[in-house]
Amino acid sequence: MMTFADFDLPYELTRALDKLGLTEPTPVQAQAIPPALAGRDLLVSAATGSGKTAAFLLPMLARFLDSPDTPPEAGTRGLVIVPTRELARQIYDEFMKLGSYTRLRADVITGGAPTRHQTATLRKNPEILIATPGRLLEHLDRGEAELGDLEVLVLDEADRMLDMGFAPDVLRILTFCAQERQSMLLSATLHHRGLKPLTDELLRNPEVVTVDAARAIPNVIHQQVILADSPEHKQALTTWLLQNEQYDKAMVFTNTREGATRLGNALRAQGVRAGVVHGDIEQRERNRVLGLLRAGQINVLVATDVAARGLDVPGMQLVINFDVARSGDDHLHRTGRTGRAGERGLAVSLVGHTDWNNMASIERYLRLDVERRVIPGLKAKFEGPKKVKGAAKKAPRKPEKPAAPKPKQRHRDLKNKGKRRVPSQARNASPGDLPPPRKPREP
Ligand code: ADP
Ligand code: MG
Repeated sequence: MMTFADFDLPYELTRALDKLGLTEPTPVQAQAIPPALAGRDLLVSAATGSGKTAAFLLPMLARFLDSPDTPPEAGTRGLVIVPTRELARQIYDEFMKLGSYTRLRADVITGGAPTRHQTATLRKNPEILIATPGRLLEHLDRGEAELGDLEVLVLDEADRMLDMGFAPDVLRILTFCAQERQSMLLSATLHHRGLKPLTDELLRNPEVVTVDAARAIPNVIHQQVILADSPEHKQALTTWLLQNEQYDKAMVFTNTREGATRLGNALRAQGVRAGVVHGDIEQRERNRVLGLLRAGQINVLVATDVAARGLDVPGMQLVINFDVARSGDDHLHRTGRTGRAGERGLAVSLVGHTDWNNMASIERYLRLDVERRVIPGLKAKFEGPKKVKGAAKKAPRKPEKPAAPKPKQRHRDLKNKGKRRVPSQARNASPGDLPPPRKPREP
C-alpha cells in the first residue's frame, strides 16, 4: 500500500499531512503526484471528491520548497485558475492547510472583491495566486500582476471555464505566462469539445491521468428520481425530503437565479435553515452564506450551478435537483457535491414533464443506476410521456463500452417494461449537446 511517505515530499508538507491525519494518497494522487514532482505536465480526469486539489497543490508546493532561492522581486511562481470565486476560496483554504508549515504565501484574486485591495496584495508578491480569469486579466492588463516568472500553472475545472465563456480570457492569460513552466489541467469531466485547442496550447507532452471512466459518478452516491407535476409540487417534495431524509447538510439546485431565490424563501418560511447562492447575489453575501453552511449554522444551500463545481463541504450527504441539470456533466458535478472522499451520499432529481428528456439523456450518458421513488401522499399524476410514436420499440443502446457488461436489473426497467422510456429527441442528442448555449456569466 502506498503512503505519502513514498513520495519523498519536503518535510514541511509531510508534517502538514500528518497533522491533517492524511496518510494514504487517493488513487488520483498516487498517479498524478510522481510525474508532477518530476516536472511533467498533467492532464487529469478523476471523479468528483477524489482529491484532485492536493494532487496539484502538493507537487506545486514541493517544487517551490525545493528551490526557494528565486529573487525576492520575482513575480508569481504558481497560478491556479478556477471558474468560480467560491472554488478559489476553497482552494486557498486547502493551501492554508497543506502549506501551514511553509513560509509560502498565496492570495485570492477574484471578482466581487475590491480591486484596490487586490492591487495592494499583488504588490506584496505572493508566490501563489488563485484566481478567476476576468479579474486576473484586469490586473494583468494594468501591469499589476506579473506572470513572466511563472513556474506552475493549474487550470482546475477547465471545462466549466469553457462553458462559462472564459476560453478567450484563459488563452489571453496564457500569453502573459512564462513559456518555460509546468502546466496541469484537471476536472472530473474532460470531454468538452472546446478543450482540445486549450490543452494543445497549454500542455507539452502531458502525463495523462485518468482515474475511473471519465463519466464515472462515484458509486457511493445513490441516485433517485421522483416525478413531479408542477413547481409547487416540487417545492412540497423538497420540503418533505429536507424534513424526512437523514443528512447533515444538503444542497438543492435550481436552473435559474430567480428559482433559487424563490425556493430559498419558501423553504425558510417552512422553517428550513436554508441559504441561497447564485450569480446575482453579492459576493460578500455569497461568502457569508457558505461560511454559515460550513459552520453548520444553516444546513441547506439552495444554489444554481455556480455552486456545482468543486465545492467540498464536509457532511454534504444529500443533493436535490429541484430542476434537472441541463447536461450530464452538470448533473455529475452537482451530485458530486456529496459522496466525497468515500463518504456516502444521496442524489434525488425531481422530474416534471419539461425535465423528462434531460433526465433520460443524463441517465443514458452517465449510465446511471436510478431508483424511482414515490413519496407517500405526494405521488405525481405525471407518469412520464404518454404514447410516443413507436412506443413498443425499446430505444437501442449504443454499444459504447463493449467490455465490462454490468448485469444489473434496474427498477425502472422492470416497472416500465414495454413502455418507451426515452423520447427520440433525447435519444439522438449526445448529452454534451443538451444544454442551450450558455451565457458567459455565472449562473
Ligand atoms: P476533487 O477536487 O477531486 O473533487 P477535493 O480535492 O475537493 O476533490 O477533495 C475531496 C475531499 O477529500 C476533501 O475534503 C479532501 O480534504 C479529502 N482528501 C483529499 N486527499 C485525501 C486523502 N489522501 N485521504 C483522505 N481524504 C482526502
Ligand atoms: Mg476539485
